[in-house]
Amino acid sequence: MSAVPLHTLPEDIFRTVFEKSPGSLLVKADVPRFTILAASDKYLAVTATTRDAILGRGFSEVFPENTNIDDDIKAQHIFKKVVETRQKIDIPSYRYDIFDPDTYTYEEHYWSCSNVPIADGDGKIAYILNTVVDITEEVKAREAAIESENRFRLATEATGLATWDLNLVDQSFVYSPRMAEIFGHNADDVLSVATFRSQITDDDMDNIIKPSFRQAILTGNYLYEVKITRPDTSLRWIKTQGIIIFDANHKPIRMLGTILDITESKRDEIRKNDFIAMASHELKTPLTSLKAYIQLLEKKITKDGDAFINNALVKAGNQVNKMSDLVYGFLDLSRLESGKLQVKIQYFDINDLITETIAETLPVSYNHQIVFNPGAPIIVNADSERIGQVVGNFLSNAIKYSPKESTITVSSYVVDNKVQVSVSDTGIGIRPKDQEKLFQRFYRVENENIKNISGFGIGLYLASEIIQRHKGKIWVESREGEGSTFSFSLPL
Ligand code: ADP
Repeated sequence: MSAVPLHTLPEDIFRTVFEKSPGSLLVKADVPRFTILAASDKYLAVTATTRDAILGRGFSEVFPENTNIDDDIKAQHIFKKVVETRQKIDIPSYRYDIFDPDTYTYEEHYWSCSNVPIADGDGKIAYILNTVVDITEEVKAREAAIESENRFRLATEATGLATWDLNLVDQSFVYSPRMAEIFGHNADDVLSVATFRSQITDDDMDNIIKPSFRQAILTGNYLYEVKITRPDTSLRWIKTQGIIIFDANHKPIRMLGTILDITESKRDEIRKNDFIAMASHELKTPLTSLKAYIQLLEKKITKDGDAFINNALVKAGNQVNKMSDLVYGFLDLSRLESGKLQVKIQYFDINDLITETIAETLPVSYNHQIVFNPGAPIIVNADSERIGQVVGNFLSNAIKYSPKESTITVSSYVVDNKVQVSVSDTGIGIRPKDQEKLFQRFYRVENENIKNISGFGIGLYLASEIIQRHKGKIWVESREGEGSTFSFSLPL
């Protein structure tokens, strides 16, 4: 904008309009004095001065320059430039502190100002209209935001955490440089969501990420661990944790979270799993032959009819069975963790399977009464050995955690195109806070009454993994002191 020509207004009208205008000051273009001719009420208020104190005086006399600001934004310099160039000059933000006579200190202030040249009748620049807006609040808020962002960035950088933010509506994606590094790229590479996704296998996408996203839609939080392949083909493990933000209609609109490289701790875990796998594998062979010898002896002894030895062998056999259950449990656990737990799907009658599994528990269940009334065959398409393992786990827990002579009821029925199998006992029951965690690895309830009952807390974890691999559901209903019902359902 170049110089504004001056149109003559009756002086009193001009003065009223000017004095009521927002932060405005009119100075004469008498370089270098710049005599102050008029000031609006607002200008006087924001600069904490009075009309009497400034009218007719030179600008720098009244408003001495801040020594700590750059020369080219000092008022004298700007005013001169406006006169020379005949152009309007804006200073979007500069600091000019105001003296507070009450405290005798200077108060920090930021201003945005504009300087418009005004020409007289001959086209000569006669005045400068200086308008100021106090932007101290905005500047302070911006500084606070930057400081808090810096603090957050330093904290995340110190812990090696990467952060990311995905807008689910327009797919815009923001991530910290650390995320690119974790995925094996340069910190300043510009990468798309698709690039990051392509570093995760389709299997992990289907089995880990999609289920945890589905879960997050319900809870608002997600957490998963997944492997990624870097461009140099090396494998890393990451743990990602975050939240989903919903709009008023509960539609997910934004996902944000952190990523941590957990490769080192994962390697330790893998080594530990390998050790468990190896140890349980080595234990399996002597146990199997021990079991075979006990069976052989049982057969021989029965003929001779020595009651004590017979009884001792049955007990030894039971203990060996218990031990082999534990060893097989560990073997399954390590297979599961290394992704080698396979399911062999085939058609079978689940009622037959339940009947067989109940028969197999007889050596340990003779003190309990197990009730099961199989109805018509229910044909399912699943891994019969693994499903038998789940039923067996429910049964052995029901036996372990309910009093002798009590009844355990097993039921199976079809509902909503699913088969549901339940095992109910009238045992010690489970508190609600434990119920949520029972299906986690190594979780055992802490309770004085059951501290002598053996177990490692892997049975239900394995059961839930097996049922998940069949796309089924597993759950418990229980009341402390009254009993529990463990159930699973499988799609038909
Ligand atoms: P464990 O080998 O320790 O029994 P599980 O994973 O099968 O391992 O069970 C985990 C925990 O759940 C058990 O330690 C026990 O505290 C609790 N639990 C399982 N089944 C029952 C049940 N029928 N009644 C009471 N508590 C149970």
